[in-house]
Amino acid sequence: MYRLIIFGPPGAGKGTQAEIIADKLNLDHFSTGQILREAVTAGTDLGKKAKAIMDSGHLVPDEIMIGIVEQSLAERSESNGFILDGFPRTLAQAIALTGIFSKLGFDDVKVINLIVKDEELIERMLSRGRSDDTEDAVKNRLAVYKESTAPVLDYFRKNGNAIFDITGAGEINDINDQILKSITLNHRS
Ligand code: ADP
Repeated sequence: MYRLIIFGPPGAGKGTQAEIIADKLNLDHFSTGQILREAVTAGTDLGKKAKAIMDSGHLVPDEIMIGIVEQSLAERSESNGFILDGFPRTLAQAIALTGIFSKLGFDDVKVINLIVKDEELIERMLSRGRSDDTEDAVKNRLAVYKESTAPVLDYFRKNGNAIFDITGAGEINDINDQILKSITLNHRS
């Protein structure tokens, strides 16, 4: 059973890598960004609330996100585990996630930390053309990452989670090989 969190700044390639890993290891891929974008497209109450926040590059309130993730993780599935992408993004989310994991009896949670330089992140996001990829929103998202999300890594460290630092620059497939190598090598079964 694999229980993975893919962590890193916006534009690091979390979604791309998570999708390939989920496919190769038969995992459920829970992307909070994707869930929110689907809610926006469907025009649900959540989507209406989230759209303006996302487009400005800020974070959707913790209590909403924690509820979404708790529900996703509690779903029964025939898969080989999960990869969580885009969560936790704040200390409050990280602390709540620890509680959810212990309630569900999930241990041995591994964190994949994707590292990419700021200049490359900005370049990637501006060429992607999503509605939250405007110059102002991108600037805000990087600032929010540094201020609110980066400290989550220290929390994982103190919490005893295994953290795998992976350079997120280069070829998608090479990066994926690096990730797979490190998580499978260090796997208990
Ligand atoms: P990226 O990794 O490129 O920033 P995501 O798809 O992960 O893109 O997220 C897009 C947006 O969705 C974020 O900028 C934020 O507004 C919202 N979002 C996603 N996950 C969370 C979360 N865990 N907490 C708060 N907001 C979130």
